[in-house]
Amino acid sequence: MTENPRARETRPASAPPKGKLRATGTPQVRPTTEGWTQKKDAEGRPLLQFASPKRGKPPLHLADLTPTERIEKVKELGLPGFRAKQLATHYFRHYTSDAAQMTDLPADIREQLVGGLLPPLLTEVRRLETDRGDTIKFLWRLHDGALVESVLMRYPGRITLCVSSQAGCGMNCPFCATGQAGLTRNMSTAEIVEQIVRANRLIAEGGLGGKKADDHSMERVSNIVFMGMGEPLANYNRVMDAVRSMVAPQPDGLGMSARGITVSTVGLVPAIKKLADEGIPVTFALSLHAPDDHLRDELIPVNSKWKVDEALDAARYYYEKTGRRVSIEYALIKDMNDHAWRADLLAEKLNERGRGWVHVNPIPLNPTPGSIWTSSTREAQNEFVRRLNDAGIPTTLRDTRGKEIDGACGQLVATTEDEAASAAMA
Ligand code: SF4
Repeated sequence: MTENPRARETRPASAPPKGKLRATGTPQVRPTTEGWTQKKDAEGRPLLQFASPKRGKPPLHLADLTPTERIEKVKELGLPGFRAKQLATHYFRHYTSDAAQMTDLPADIREQLVGGLLPPLLTEVRRLETDRGDTIKFLWRLHDGALVESVLMRYPGRITLCVSSQAGCGMNCPFCATGQAGLTRNMSTAEIVEQIVRANRLIAEGGLGGKKADDHSMERVSNIVFMGMGEPLANYNRVMDAVRSMVAPQPDGLGMSARGITVSTVGLVPAIKKLADEGIPVTFALSLHAPDDHLRDELIPVNSKWKVDEALDAARYYYEKTGRRVSIEYALIKDMNDHAWRADLLAEKLNERGRGWVHVNPIPLNPTPGSIWTSSTREAQNEFVRRLNDAGIPTTLRDTRGKEIDGACGQLVATTEDEAASAAMA
């Protein structure tokens, strides 16, 4: 890859000198892990794991196959090809894998079809709900015991599912619970899709609370965010196949709108460009969290490979290719990345790449007393947002639904308690 000259930058010109930081009493908290030790590579840098460890493959599933491959597979089972579409209708339109409910299929072939093409992929280990029942976190066990989570959230006029794309994560961000254990493995296409199908089934059964009497929104998941476990672009092919299944019209897929699907990344630049060239106009989000390499190298270890300017150039390329406005995610962490000058620097870097192509979503972190990973003060949050807006960058503080059940993004992790519950069920 050609080196971007701007990538050599370590401390931004607009950052106040260290002396000034001390003189004004503005502290700079450095990102370090708390209660766990970050794995390091031979050069002492945080270890990045891109390749998925080899583990037994999940069973082949209808959602792993294209419509043509489904027909071939059904024929291999000794059945006529048109049964593939019937089975896909049950799965993608009625959200069922239960042979007993497939009454339009002859009884003697239902088990054969379900056994061959709809094997169980996710076993529910635990479900946590908010009091109103409008946010639900699921903990799933995969066929090999790996644990992943998804979070279902009802908002006025839409239902959003936050999905996982990997068991664990290899990006080693020091603030993130998911990254602590490293990457267990990539999830398969069908394991990603099944999270949505299971959520849709629950919604159809009336299991998601918070619906108002005058709410006529369609009762199924309308929006997907890839902000659960894993770095989606590190599992590129399977994630993209899952996206294709999401947007394919029913019954070939779930018939969702690409615009309602948000693919987020910490900045895997070649994969961002590839995504831009796919021709599927999903919403793209870059988890930036710092506008300067000095801090971002420590906060987001993949920044040692692709620098802030390279990630922003790739984000701009995404906008140019798709016409879709890009989201910049920015978790506001007290005295670490929430300085006013960082808001100015971020605005400067975004504006130098043009106008109207981006918006910023600062995300207030959970208040965690005694931790360096705690929320910015309300004043710092407001000042950060004000400076960006004043510089012409549309900026809105994001709703952090899910906090109540520890399901906010970047906090999705299977605890040892969850592991115990899974072991008891296995
Ligand atoms: S923040 Fe995202 S990319 Fe970083 S370790 Fe956590 S899940 Fe992985």
